[in-house]
Formats: sequence, structure tokens, C-alpha cells
Amino acid sequence: MGVGKLPDNPRPIILPRQKGLIITGAARVSPAWKGEAPATVGMGKRACALPLYVDHREGNPMDLSTFLKRLPKVSLHVHLAGTVQPSTLVALAGKNSVVLPAYRAPEDLYHYPDFPQFIQMLDRVMASIRDRADFHRITYETLQQAAEHGVRHREMFWNPTTHMACGVPYATAVDGIIDGIRDARTDFGIQCVLIAAINRAGTPELGFEMVQTVLAQPREEVVGIGMDYAEAGNPPEKFWKAYRLAGERGLRRTAHACEDGPARNVETCLDLLGCERIDHGYHVLEDEQMTKRCAEQGVVFSCCPRSTAAVYFGQDLTRHPIREMARQGLKIMIDCDDPPMFQTDPTSDYVAIAEPMGFGPEDVREFVLNGIDGSWLDDPTKRRWRREWSREIDALIAQLD
Ligand SMILES: [Zn+2]
Repeated sequence: MGVGKLPDNPRPIILPRQKGLIITGAARVSPAWKGEAPATVGMGKRACALPLYVDHREGNPMDLSTFLKRLPKVSLHVHLAGTVQPSTLVALAGKNSVVLPAYRAPEDLYHYPDFPQFIQMLDRVMASIRDRADFHRITYETLQQAAEHGVRHREMFWNPTTHMACGVPYATAVDGIIDGIRDARTDFGIQCVLIAAINRAGTPELGFEMVQTVLAQPREEVVGIGMDYAEAGNPPEKFWKAYRLAGERGLRRTAHACEDGPARNVETCLDLLGCERIDHGYHVLEDEQMTKRCAEQGVVFSCCPRSTAAVYFGQDLTRHPIREMARQGLKIMIDCDDPPMFQTDPTSDYVAIAEPMGFGPEDVREFVLNGIDGSWLDDPTKRRWRREWSREIDALIAQLD
């Protein structure tokens, strides 16, 4: 299978989980990245060549990870429940009497042999978050980590109905999350707004009710709706009424599409649901016309290399469709989906796309700016951030010379 060529069978290929990134020794250096002192960053024993660099002009080492970590970032594709650190999960499960599988270290809890078992663990995480203080804690913790990795603005998913099914009222969850957002902004300077996500495995009626609930209990921080969970068997048109209501009432709209579904799902999201951006979108490449249209229209795709590599595309990141998406002129931005649950973070997903996919610093710069374009910030802020961040990123790139 060539780069960017999608599997003939759109069903997920279940693979063992990825190992964390480790330094593994010397390897080739891409001419796109200037510098010295190459090393590789790999996944377990299967190294992907990633150079490290030393900035002799400054006299300080500037390695690839440091460069990518210092990049200012917009985050458009992270799920709150997927950000719970393993140690926090153990604490919350203990507090709220949720039984967890046996483990030696808390990190073991996030090792799953297949996708269904990942979903099972996610359900346990959801069940462990019960009161307003719990939501405050997990929100504050993920925003603290995000700020440490250069994220300055996040638009974050959470699933109101999944928590409500666990007996948590909408207001308890959303107000706890907002507590965390406000404290994180005070302490770390990061800003965050919320996307109420429809669990597409549920019924259309439940999705519609979720939008009604969001509208009946408005909060300044809740700016839009999304749609997540298993796409196969749950096409976007299933929730057209929920999206129509959201649009009529001024909520912004996005949806997971073409993660595990056909290219027509992107068309449905854009034309029927009124989505302004697409989460994932990999299988859009199956439709040449749709790909061309999205490129011409400047649709932003929020791509998550590591979580989707683990589940759909295998450990060889050179086979991930993100590379072909960029080659076809699609506007992609990079994010980390469910960071601790897939052993990643906002920087590691950039590391994952850099050398393995042949992207250079100018490409990375473009992906960051695409994140600004795809966000729901107001236009003056977008224009200002594009100017300011461009200068900032150029200065970082210069340190790689
Ligand atoms: Zn996602």
C-alpha cells in the first residue's frame, strides 16, 4: 500500500497499541531540517527517523521536540474524557466506587488490545467523573498540560449525554468544566471553549435532546456541537435534525467524519449538517472530486496522527493518509484526540508527522496557522494571531539554522 492509499476495506485495522516515543540512536537527516547531531525518535523498537538538532549559533541545543513543543498552537480536536491522566483515573474511580481492571501501574489501564476495549475503558473513565469538582480537576489538568505544550486556545469536546446516562446532570458537568477552564486561564493563560458532542452510537432523538439541553442551559463557554464515537454504521445524516436546530440557534458545528466512513460523509457534514470544519477526514481521499472541492473551499481538517495510526493505519506513519491529504492541498491541522489514552500529547503528534511523513518546518508552520483558520475565534483575532504567530514561528525556525 502506497503512501496515502487508503485500505480497500474501510473497517478499522486493529493493531497493538503504540509504545511511547523513545530516543533510539543516529539516523538520516532530512534536508528539510537543518542542523546537526541527528538521532532518531522511534516507537518501541521500530524507529522512525527523526533528527535532533543543536543550535550552535545560540549555543543551546534546539532539538526537534523542543522546537515543536515551543510552537504556539490552537487545539481543535481533543475529547475531555480522553484527557484523564491514569493516576487521576485511579483517584476518581476510588472516590466514586468504580471498579477498574487489575493493573500494576496506573498507566497499564490505558493499554488495550483492540478498539472495543478502548471504548470499554473510556466508559469506565466516564463513569469515574461524577461531581463538579471531578470535572474541574480533569479540565484544569488537561489545560495545564496543553499550556505546557504551547496550546493557547482550545475548542474541546465533551459528551453531555454520556455523563447524563451515568446520572450526572448537564449543569454539574458543564459548570465543573467551566470552573476548570476559568482557573486554568488564570493560572496558565490558556483559553478554552466547549463543543457539546453527540455520541453518534445513540439515537437521533437523544442527539436532538442534547442540543435542546445545551440551548436551554446556555453558557458562554459552550459555543458549538460536534459528533464522535464510532462512525461506521452511524452516518452523519442520522443527526440532521440536531444539527439543523443547532444551526438555527447560532451554535457552531463540526463533526467526526471519514475516520471510519466513506468520503460521502464529508459531503453530508458540509452540505446537510452545515459543518464548518471536519474532524479527521482521511477517507475523503477516496473521492477525487470531494477532495478537490474541500481543497478549493479551504475546509480545515483536524487530524490526529497517533490515535488514528494506532487504530486504523498501523505503526508505519509513512502510510498515514495525512501526508497525501496535505499533498492534495487540503488544509490540515494537528491535534492529539485522547492524549494519555494513546500515550501522546500535543507535541508528540507533531513529532509523529514531522520526519516520518517528510514535513519540514514550513509545513509545520502552515499546519499551526491552519488551526487558527479552522477555529471559531473571531476574524480580527484570527488575523492578528496569524501575523503574530507567523513571526514567532519564523523566529523559532531560524533557531534551527
Ligand atoms: Zn476525536
